[in-house]
Amino acid sequence: MLSSFAGARDGWWLNEPIRWVQTNLRETDANLDAAHLVGQLADMRANVLLIGMGGITAYYPTRIEFHTISPYLPPGHDMFGDVLQAAHAKGIRVVGRFDFSKTSKAAFDAHPEWFFRKANGDPVIYNGLYSTCINGAYYREQAVKILSEALDKYPVDGLFFNMFGNQSRDYSGNDVGLCHCAVCRRKYEQMFHKELPDKPDDDYRKFMFVSSREVAAIFGDLIHKKRPQAGYFNYVQESTDGIMSESNTAVARPLPMWPYSASDNVNRALNSEPGKMPVNLCMQFVDYWWRFATVTRDEIALRLWENIANGGALAFEVNGTLDQQDRQAVETAKPIFRWLADHEQYYSRERSAARVLLLAGPANTGQTYSQRSYRGLFRLLSEEHIPFAVSNNMRWLGTRDFDLVIATDWAPPELRGYAEGGGRVLIVSPREPQFPLASIVRKSPDVRGYFRVRDHSLFPSLHDTNLLMLEGPFTELAGDAKAPLTLIPPSMIGPPEKVHVDWKDTDQPGLVFRTMGKGTVAWIPWDLGALYYRESLPAYAGLFRDVVDRLQPTRQLRTNAHPLVEMTWMQQGDRKLLHLINLSGHSQTGYFPPLPMIDIRVEIAGRFKEAISARNPAHLQVHFENGYTRFTVPRLTGYELIVLN
Ligand SMILES: [Zn+2]
Repeated sequence: MLSSFAGARDGWWLNEPIRWVQTNLRETDANLDAAHLVGQLADMRANVLLIGMGGITAYYPTRIEFHTISPYLPPGHDMFGDVLQAAHAKGIRVVGRFDFSKTSKAAFDAHPEWFFRKANGDPVIYNGLYSTCINGAYYREQAVKILSEALDKYPVDGLFFNMFGNQSRDYSGNDVGLCHCAVCRRKYEQMFHKELPDKPDDDYRKFMFVSSREVAAIFGDLIHKKRPQAGYFNYVQESTDGIMSESNTAVARPLPMWPYSASDNVNRALNSEPGKMPVNLCMQFVDYWWRFATVTRDEIALRLWENIANGGALAFEVNGTLDQQDRQAVETAKPIFRWLADHEQYYSRERSAARVLLLAGPANTGQTYSQRSYRGLFRLLSEEHIPFAVSNNMRWLGTRDFDLVIATDWAPPELRGYAEGGGRVLIVSPREPQFPLASIVRKSPDVRGYFRVRDHSLFPSLHDTNLLMLEGPFTELAGDAKAPLTLIPPSMIGPPEKVHVDWKDTDQPGLVFRTMGKGTVAWIPWDLGALYYRESLPAYAGLFRDVVDRLQPTRQLRTNAHPLVEMTWMQQGDRKLLHLINLSGHSQTGYFPPLPMIDIRVEIAGRFKEAISARNPAHLQVHFENGYTRFTVPRLTGYELIVLN
């Protein structure tokens, strides 16, 4: 299957269990003791180190002009070289970190054309460093010289790049706007026949996308030419071998917190680009201002378990070295790294075995996409224990079987052919699909009304209610006297004597089913996902469950597990892996130790001879009946793995 995905390269990152530690070094760390650091890594049984190499600060003697060597690198020393040698001696791979987004004043004085320019022509200066432009010759020529030297000199196992693509905010959160350098102005004019905008719009996002991917391709080609065994890791999907992402926090970020952050990032990367390795960094710090203050232990643990339960690398990041002043994050990560080292046979070459696909927003377009709608559906699927894969590209069509594809806010034209060929599709969005499905009467941006349940036989989960609340956009489709769910438009809300006394039922459907060729498409033309994300009403979960059950009558997994148990269903060679993660410790803004859960009954479609629990080691009794293998997980604390043969 991998070979059907263009650009996928086979390498250590795909074939080995990965326990990855990233140290975001400060320039003062250039005098670190390589043996000490590598000893700490070996002790926690990490097997990949991502460490500062060059870009803003070089941690090795470099001969390339304007490549600033750390002033703290003792004369005659080669910190990066020493670490690389010591790590390799212990079987630890080393990925070098570069950041070309900023460089010195000396470079700016000599080559002002390399740099980011604000709309008024000023450079962007932060702590004495000048921001470069992704379209300028610093990225496209000077960086290539720097990387060529590095790759010639050191047998690295990979390279990683931070900050890729003209950030419009600095670390302090100040808006610096869009780059107006001569190259950007000329190139944008050529692409769109107009001047650069003041604020990013869809065209500008497309422009930045194209610009950053050009550089990604240059770097990728260079790495693959000079070190064919080395991996290329970046925050982009194009040209890379590993797709980087982060689970992080920021104090000003809108609530609620997203406890599925790592699962979301890894699931999406793995199933959007099946030939690449997802590396989701668990960032230890609270926010930029407090790089040395760690988030809670249980948030660290949750992210690490989610990473590996979804087929990604175990990946953990610290600022500075492993000698932390706040040791909570490192001390949490250590036993998890060690346990995974002891059970590493289960943690490589995992593939999703899910038969439901959730489409994430379109990659490669710059088109906006409702994160709230997506997250609501993500939560519903997880809480319903429906194993699902997330993808943001459509190349999976024809390469992999699914029973059901779910789309929100982006229902691409490819879904039509998929349905006509016998596929089943659920669209949950007021935004109309990009193929003809049902005639639209009008689109209302904000409706505060209800839906009436007309046919309870279709909605067994809604037996205790005749109403669901609607708030937000609603797309009115042609009226249907037989619609099972219909709109009640807004009516009087007060005083109590007047509440809804004037309401009127309509025949405007809140759900339609359409046959397309050999397949079926269901459309909920309002934002059930976003409403569930914010309100968590059981009626939304009930409606979702009943529609999914109608489209996909056979579930892969049936269980009495609590909704806050996340389960992922993975394939590894000939065996299957069921991962269970306990999210019950998350409340409001806190992550506490999860409440232990006992006697979780599980029924998995298919016949398995044995089920082994790895975290609380036991052979579980299995029974096969009516197409399902049944067993009970006696105890779940934070995480459990069931291996099925
Ligand atoms: Zn520019």
